[in-house]
Amino acid sequence: MTSIRSRAPTASSPVVRRVMQANVGRETGIEQTLRCALHRNGLRFRKDAAPVCALRCKADIVFTRFKVCVFVDGCFWHGCPKHFRPPKANRAWWLEKIRDNRARDRRQSALLAYHGWTVLRFWEHNVKSQLTTVVADVRRTLASANRQALARKRRSPCGKQFWPCL
Ligand SMILES: [Zn+2]
Repeated sequence: MTSIRSRAPTASSPVVRRVMQANVGRETGIEQTLRCALHRNGLRFRKDAAPVCALRCKADIVFTRFKVCVFVDGCFWHGCPKHFRPPKANRAWWLEKIRDNRARDRRQSALLAYHGWTVLRFWEHNVKSQLTTVVADVRRTLASANRQALARKRRSPCGKQFWPCL
């Protein structure tokens, strides 16, 4: 079976190219909105970083010390149930493409969780309309990750985290 990428109508279709460019731009802007809001709240993090080196997946925002990473999922590219509308041209291809993206999101989240990371995913529309709530969610998650790390530290015999890579 040929991969979805090899069947991409991209090169041949200016319509598809326009849709792609418009949506890529929107997604980058919204990630930046969240980063700025977190920064204003005194939080420091890495951006566009791979939480686990061996996994080739980059998160939009990474809190290394807390093992918490954040993804902002664009309503278009990640198939938001409220807002995703497939373009009329090449509809079947788009539906398959977005289904693939969603499956990849789920796989990545599961893998990161397996490696001991807490994964937060927010929809683009939540960041746009409920920024304060999203920031509060991130802060709550960091606080809870911090409590767990401290508890682990107390339990380990040498006062250090017993398995630093987990
Ligand atoms: Zn949405």
